[in-house]
Amino acid sequence: MRVILLGPPGCGKGTQGNRIEQSYGFPRISTGDLLRAEVAAETLLGLKARTVMESGELVSDAIVVEMIRKRIFSPDCRKGYILDGFPRTIAQAESLAYMDGSRLEAAIDIRVDNDVLIKRLSARWVCSCGAVYNLKVKPPAEEGKCDVCGGSLLQRKDDDSGVIRGRLRVYRKQTEPLIVFYKKKGNYFFVDGEQGIESVFSSINYILKRLLQETGELRE
Ligand code: AMP
Repeated sequence: MRVILLGPPGCGKGTQGNRIEQSYGFPRISTGDLLRAEVAAETLLGLKARTVMESGELVSDAIVVEMIRKRIFSPDCRKGYILDGFPRTIAQAESLAYMDGSRLEAAIDIRVDNDVLIKRLSARWVCSCGAVYNLKVKPPAEEGKCDVCGGSLLQRKDDDSGVIRGRLRVYRKQTEPLIVFYKKKGNYFFVDGEQGIESVFSSINYILKRLLQETGELRE
């Protein structure tokens, strides 16, 4: 199975992707995380991607498709995988269908209004270990320090208030057309992303369980 998490920046794709990973054992693959690792390691790809990412625009389709191609054919993806932040354009969705077309697929759109997203993203602080905090609703126990590893918390450059609105515009223009793409395939589902984390996860869980049961993958 392939779970595609659609939805704008700040809707909770990372959090929900981790919850699905814990429950189903499918690895979560985030193109944003893969790109940030390239930037941190100062690879050629990372150097190319950095300015684009900091401006809130999209990295080229060719770069992300190649990254995904390498990742989804790894042995740990045999039974399934969760895509967080990919595809983000119709061209990426078409490449994915071409590369790995026969899987049971659910594209789950986590819907959240722009005003809520702007508030969430401007309060988001992250640690290099992957932990994510929200200063208003999920602050760390000690200011500026990660509860998990004790590392220093940072704000992502693209969570700067000036960049956030641009990222939301990019999402609505380039990524939202995927809703129609997956509706046509009959694989589109949506959940209300403004509920609490556990309620959003139960809605997603309900969709995935039903799909797996229908196809016999969970039958005893
Ligand atoms: P994210 O962590 O998913 O918000 O991604 C951070 C940034 O990485 C995005 O704003 C883009 O610049 C870049 N990026 C991540 N995934 C993709 C993708 N599928 N296509 C193009 N650019 C991407």
